[in-house]
Amino acid sequence: MSDSQTHKTSDPKANLTEICARIETAAKRAGRSADEVSLIAVAKRQPPDRIDALLQAGHRVFGENRVQEAADKWPALKRAYPDVELHMVGPLQSNKAADAIALFDVIHSIDRMKLARKVAEEIAAAQRDPELFVQINTGEEPQKSGVMPRQADEFIRQCREELQLRISGLMCLPPIDEEASLHFALLAKIARRNGVENLSMGMSGDFETAIIFGATHIRVGTALFGDRDP
Ligand SMILES: *Cc1c(COP(=O)(O)O)cnc(C)c1O
Repeated sequence: MSDSQTHKTSDPKANLTEICARIETAAKRAGRSADEVSLIAVAKRQPPDRIDALLQAGHRVFGENRVQEAADKWPALKRAYPDVELHMVGPLQSNKAADAIALFDVIHSIDRMKLARKVAEEIAAAQRDPELFVQINTGEEPQKSGVMPRQADEFIRQCREELQLRISGLMCLPPIDEEASLHFALLAKIARRNGVENLSMGMSGDFETAIIFGATHIRVGTALFGDRDP
């Protein structure tokens, strides 16, 4: 069994070139500039040599979905590449908030008041100022984290007014069996009416659609790196 056999190429540098070209094309189609779209290379469960390949190719924006895995991998890589920008894209437990704030530059998964309060406390204590995105459960899936769409406005207001959190984006993870564009459009609409500038949406299979619908951050794993370790 080999990853290189299940993915068209396991050469992350070549994949990066191809993905950047596709971002460029999608942005152009949408009348946007590719500079408005940040490509987050989601490095969870990827072998170190693939991450090194992207770093050596000059890529600096990476994502992880677990605090512990990120804490094992990234402090050393950040020493070697101080301009790395690290994004937390997975669900965050309140008891990991301090670690997450120490490590990440952007957190995409603020999804409940308990966590928002903890994050506000830890930001004050650590004198760090990570960018914060609110995750919206656009598909209203019970097993998935995220604020329900009808509660989004009130949640964002509370984060901003009561906790003084700087909410700069929204994130969603559409249901796998539904048309992603409906979810991207809903996320964009919630962002617009709340004056939120950034949209974290689109993954390996649908980032071009997400760009058409206004994504400012796309989270791409397997299309860049190849298949993940189990
Ligand atoms: C793993 C992950 C991704 C990347 O998924 P791919 O399909 O490999 O591109 C994006 N977003 C989140 C939240 C993830 O956990």
